[in-house]
Amino acid sequence: MDARKANDRIAEKAEQLRFVSRVPMLCECSEPGCRTVVMVALNEYREIRRTEDSVLTAPGHDAEGAVLESQTPTYDVRRVSRSRGGANGGRRSA
Ligand SMILES: [Zn+2]
Repeated sequence: MDARKANDRIAEKAEQLRFVSRVPMLCECSEPGCRTVVMVALNEYREIRRTEDSVLTAPGHDAEGAVLESQTPTYDVRRVSRSRGGANGGRRSA
């Protein structure tokens, strides 16, 4: 997932620069053209990434195969119920 990789890079940079406030992250929904930016605190992002199957999206954006796990005013966290990572669009469960 491109957005996810980009976000990991953003998080790394932010860590190097010792960001303490929120960092702009890309929405990881399954809409290919989505360019929505969500503001996430670095520690929150780390928390989200601790779970392999978690998807960070803008509020109300959908990720295929994922269910809503938690909501904040600025972003949603979804979790993919099957498989881990990258099954975005290509595969379809029977
Ligand atoms: Zn989106």
